[in-house]
Amino acid sequence: MAAPAQNLRINGDRLWDSLMEMARIGPGVAGGNNRQTLTDADGEGRALFRTWCEAAGCSMGLDQMGNMFAMRPGTDPEALPVYVGSHLDTQPTGGKYDGVLGVLGGLEVIRTLNDLGIRTRHPIVVTNWTNEEGTRFAPAMLSSGVFAGMHTQDWAYARSDAEGKRFGDELARIGWRGEEEVGARKMHAFFELHIEQGPILEAEGKDIGVVTHGQGLSWTQVTITGKDAHTGSTPMPMRRNAGLGMARVLEKVDEIALSHAPHAVGAAGHIDVYPNSRNVIPGRVVFTVDFRSPDLSVIEDMEARLRVEGQKIADAMGLEIAFEKVGGFDPVKFDEGCVTAIRNAAERLGYSHMNIISGAGHDACWINRVAPTAMVMCPCVDGLSHNEAEEISKDWAAAGADVLFHAVVETAEIVE
Ligand SMILES: [Zn+2]
Repeated sequence: MAAPAQNLRINGDRLWDSLMEMARIGPGVAGGNNRQTLTDADGEGRALFRTWCEAAGCSMGLDQMGNMFAMRPGTDPEALPVYVGSHLDTQPTGGKYDGVLGVLGGLEVIRTLNDLGIRTRHPIVVTNWTNEEGTRFAPAMLSSGVFAGMHTQDWAYARSDAEGKRFGDELARIGWRGEEEVGARKMHAFFELHIEQGPILEAEGKDIGVVTHGQGLSWTQVTITGKDAHTGSTPMPMRRNAGLGMARVLEKVDEIALSHAPHAVGAAGHIDVYPNSRNVIPGRVVFTVDFRSPDLSVIEDMEARLRVEGQKIADAMGLEIAFEKVGGFDPVKFDEGCVTAIRNAAERLGYSHMNIISGAGHDACWINRVAPTAMVMCPCVDGLSHNEAEEISKDWAAAGADVLFHAVVETAEIVE
């Protein structure tokens, strides 16, 4: 396979200008973006992306979930395309780079190939996956999930937002429901460039994260039942304090996650206390324990220990405890060949790099089920994301897109 020569670089200024131009569509209230999926602003962003792709000589495909596929042809009509991309939709108070960098970085790969007059054996397709964020229509990564066969299209169309509007209706309303069958495309490989959304790369002073795994997650909802009683007049020995039981269980959650350091994490972000009154000892608490690890056996161990330790705590305190698994996502191991292409690209270009595990879900996590897949990450300031203050430097963006360019073009095979 012919790799690009090491002096080849994308155009960092052009990439940055495109990021800034896209950010003008669906502005937020604090310098970021509110370009939520299937809003008018999403439609405008899609139209701008299509204009740019067509100007770069690409043809645009559109499937029934609104996923966009801009293709630069290859020289071999039999060769499956190399796909690259991410998402243009944002959180309601989102940043300018989460997702957008991966789509426009893919476009920059094609623009650079055009500049250099390089032909590839495999076509290259830049994808915008619909509704990655999942804020307006849960769940996240909805359309890449349908593409990978994780959800049915009917189920996805029936997702509704807070106002009761349905995904399928809103997709048609903004004019981006295509004809193409979802998931019919076959991929030679898929690459996604994304900002890290965490603090590790910046803290380690690395330009590039070579993403080897995606964290798996497990959600266990725990209900502890005691007895509501007056906080003043109930003697301490006579209390059945469900809130205290929860506090002790949460100490265990922390201990269990730390026992699998450094990659495992655990916390409860959702907590409901009943009756939630200042002068009533809580008679019932419901909370969800979120455990994550790139290793499935670690997740299973953490789940099992939560149940054993939780039961012991409840028994000792005269409380009742019940556990229900309410969600989960298996860890992702990205394709070794694609991961190596990314690592070699960073090496060839002279960028500092390290292996990293994605703590967040991404479209690439679903596509990995149907095609050889890997991700490139670049740092973001203070690890901040899903926030309008999300920031990256122009150099970080350019380095990420350079690595993407080299990995994609090597995989698509340069025709001499
Ligand atoms: Zn994203």
